[in-house]
Amino acid sequence: MSAAMVELRSVHKSFGSLEVLRGVDLRVAAGEVTVILGPSGSGKSTLLRTVNHLEKVDSGSVSVDGELVGYRRSGDKLYELPEREILRQRTKIGFVFQNFNLFPHLTVRQNVTEAPRSAQRRPKTEVDALATRLLERVGLSDKAHSYPRKLSGGQQQRVAIARALALEPKVILFDEPTSALDPELVGEVLDVVKGLAGSGTTMIVVTHEVGFAREVADTVVFMDEGRIVERGTPAEVLDAPRHERTRLFLSKVL
Ligand code: ADP
Ligand code: MG
Repeated sequence: MSAAMVELRSVHKSFGSLEVLRGVDLRVAAGEVTVILGPSGSGKSTLLRTVNHLEKVDSGSVSVDGELVGYRRSGDKLYELPEREILRQRTKIGFVFQNFNLFPHLTVRQNVTEAPRSAQRRPKTEVDALATRLLERVGLSDKAHSYPRKLSGGQQQRVAIARALALEPKVILFDEPTSALDPELVGEVLDVVKGLAGSGTTMIVVTHEVGFAREVADTVVFMDEGRIVERGTPAEVLDAPRHERTRLFLSKVL
């Protein structure tokens, strides 16, 4: 079996009395694309947020590239890492949000160069060359000097993807990257994500786009009520789901 790039073991997470993750085990091999499907409120975003320590787990563990995220182990206890270590780990993990979350006061190019400059302290000429390559890759070379508010939602999301790639992350997490887009803009964003999948980037993608899952995923995971109900190849989960809850969900989104 190839090495795990992302591994969650028995992850539990509650908000007050609401148990949102109820023992999640997930393993994503290097270079693989995992698509997570599931109804609203099932814990998909929370799961992604534990992977880069935007949420702390209550128990269980998360590791990326063989390193515990946000914690250090001592015997069977987990101690939280200092903030600067958590920030260092986050540079290994790209995150693309539903609502783009671009810096509104920075140009497209500056959005892409900000993190490698400030978090990684890479030289300006190197980072500028990187931004040029990445904007070309997402088809936005001509928008380098525009501000986000001048762009369509699809263009903004492609900038967000270029920005995530700028840190040369080990894994990229996508949280419903096309849910906020007008239908005619969904395709251009999914095409960029497909291109990344083809280049061997490790990705976890939360989406309701079943066609995308079928085409791009190595593994499809179905989540409900804080648990992984079913996992398998797209053919297994989408065409021959074993669980009633998966069938019910698919009958609503397909
Ligand atoms: P999904 O992404 O599958 O829609 P979420 O992970 O966003 O689900 O949320 C799962 C549940 O946890 C929901 O009931 C949501 O309201 C709740 N939740 C998420 N984040 C918080 C938070 N920071 N505080 C309290 N409840 C939260
Ligand atoms: Mg969500």
